[in-house]
Amino acid sequence: MAIVGAGVTGCSCALTLAEAGLRVRVHEAREVASGASGRNGGFALRGGAMPYDVARVELGVERAALLWGLTERALERLASLAGDAFRHTGSLRLAADAAEAVALTAEFEALRDDGFAVEWRSIDDGHFHGSIFHPPDGSLHPARWVRRLAARAAEAGAEIREHDRVTSLDELAADAVLISTDGYTQGLLEPLDRAVKPARGQVIVTEPLERAYFSCPHYARYGYDYWQQTEDLRLVLGGFRDTALDEESTAEEATTPGIQSRLEAYAGELVGGNPKVTNRWSGIFGVTDDLLPLVGSVPGREGLWVSCGYSGHGNVLGLACGDLVARGLLGQSPPELALFDPARMLAA
Ligand SMILES: Cc1cc2nc3c(=O)[nH]c(=O)nc-3n(C[C@H](O)[C@H](O)[C@H](O)COP(=O)(O)OP(=O)(O)OC[C@H]3O[C@@H](n4cnc5c(N)ncnc54)[C@H](O)[C@@H]3O)c2cc1C
Repeated sequence: MAIVGAGVTGCSCALTLAEAGLRVRVHEAREVASGASGRNGGFALRGGAMPYDVARVELGVERAALLWGLTERALERLASLAGDAFRHTGSLRLAADAAEAVALTAEFEALRDDGFAVEWRSIDDGHFHGSIFHPPDGSLHPARWVRRLAARAAEAGAEIREHDRVTSLDELAADAVLISTDGYTQGLLEPLDRAVKPARGQVIVTEPLERAYFSCPHYARYGYDYWQQTEDLRLVLGGFRDTALDEESTAEEATTPGIQSRLEAYAGELVGGNPKVTNRWSGIFGVTDDLLPLVGSVPGREGLWVSCGYSGHGNVLGLACGDLVARGLLGQSPPELALFDPARMLAA
């Protein structure tokens, strides 16, 4: 078995397969967690890129609940594997205006009605107009977590080859191949390049602040802005890609003055003053038209599997989907695989 990409997806698949006794080799162009898995905001959230109420409409109640249940179980697994790279804090979705408060109410009611844990938290501080708290969620140190996952896979017997870019699928001598390159997907499978589009996210980190302002990951404006504080009280803040969508629809890992200055100004709004920025970076994630990942075997290509396109929401979903692919390869046919069938976008 050959896996292309050593982010959370590839390492998750490698771990399950190696534990089942299969020979697995992971090919990584740079280093473990050098893609989005080591560059993200560290939000470990259940669900997918759509809020739950929207998923109920788009997928139907049963399939939405199947997806949320899958990720709640993956969160529990993540907590058991990640050690101190994960903190179980919950997460807070905030309404930036009255219209978003209506959207939050819809998600709150849908989750509550279907039996998922959720709490309404009133806030009216002039800045935000209400919030919902998601109790199962948490905070990750993303690179540390995925390196740990890779180490687990290696201990179980997987071979992980860093600085080993795959330039053509033909060069892989394996019965089965998984492409798990998310936003870095390019040049290996043409229909996949069309279905999963690269999107850039930019992040800043400040020096440690004088106190704790945020006890869990916070996000607002439908997830376009997101922030949390690390254990040493640094503010990690990302977002504003919607203010320059054309420019940010790119696979180029670079920061831009426009987004960076918006992030800095917003950090000042959130905590007052002008906190000093110590780190800046960007990363690329893969977006699909229906905001669901493509996970499963590729139609008409015996032995070729993909798991890409989490649309900015792959920390927990990537762990779940890497494991789903592995279980599919082991002949277990997990029912959740049907949620993400790549045939809907990858024609035979
Ligand atoms: C700035 C930012 C913030 C985000 N915030 C969050 C968040 O808070 N919560 C959340 O759930 N999600 C978030 N995401 C999305 C999340 O990070 C991704 O969905 C997830 O990490 C995808 O994991 P992956 O393993 O599928 O892909 P990646 O981690 O991107 O790994 C793909 C790997 O494939 C390698 N690769 C590519 N091509 C080849 C090749 N030809 N040969 C060999 N190797 C190759 C790359 O080097 C890379 O290491 C964010 C993303 C970004 C960029």
